[in-house]
Amino acid sequence: MSCDTDRRAFLQGAAAVTVVTLAPGVTLTAPAAAATASAKRRWGLLIDASKCATDCTACVSACRTEFGTQGKGRPATDPQWVRKVELKDKATGAVTSMPVMCQHCEKPPCVDVCPTGASFKRADGIVLVDRHICIGCRYCMMACPYKARSFVHEDLDGQKPYAPRGKGTVEGCTMCVHRIDKGQNPACVDSCRSNGHQAMLFGDLNDPNSEIAKRVKTYASQQLRPDLALNTGVRYQGL
Ligand code: SF4
Ligand code: SF4
Repeated sequence: MSCDTDRRAFLQGAAAVTVVTLAPGVTLTAPAAAATASAKRRWGLLIDASKCATDCTACVSACRTEFGTQGKGRPATDPQWVRKVELKDKATGAVTSMPVMCQHCEKPPCVDVCPTGASFKRADGIVLVDRHICIGCRYCMMACPYKARSFVHEDLDGQKPYAPRGKGTVEGCTMCVHRIDKGQNPACVDSCRSNGHQAMLFGDLNDPNSEIAKRVKTYASQQLRPDLALNTGVRYQGL
């Protein structure tokens, strides 16, 4: 699930992110998802690409298992809420690998274009889709600069009660709200750690005492496509 992508274009180019499509989204119902969200928090992910192994897809597998999105084996329609992307430095040939998922933008274009309000942002910054009111128009998919959402074409099986899916609706990474509202890490983060890489860190960007906030403050990090000024909740180091 990786692709060679020009590093500069991906990080900041005016051209669209050249990453392969990925996938996305899921959703809890809005009331349940919003119940424990606090505007004091800004949940975020910090991804250290220097620790991400090119041959590892543990985060992708963990996400598929967590949400039952294994798909039907057809790449064009299989859901993939997190994808591995490889960036190649044209000058040096060096390859950097990293996971890319919904960036949980502070100013999400997907929410701006949604005609029904199905795309919404929780008070704590997590961007979700309420499948009960999603009409499947896919405007959000066109608006998302990170190709972070996908459409459910297929009949579904293996549904998880904590994250129901719906044929004919759009999905994306939920940052595992069903887990973090219980004080747990997203599944991808735990999987990365248990596989010995520790390339992903989850936490509250607004809490100066959190590890993620300290790391962002101490070491240089960047957003993908910072030129879009979306103030993403997912940040990267080691690029
Ligand atoms: Fe919306 Fe895409 Fe931003 Fe996620 S990455 S919040 S789907 S615009
Ligand atoms: Fe909103 Fe659903 Fe249309 Fe996306 S596909 S813009 S979530 S109604």
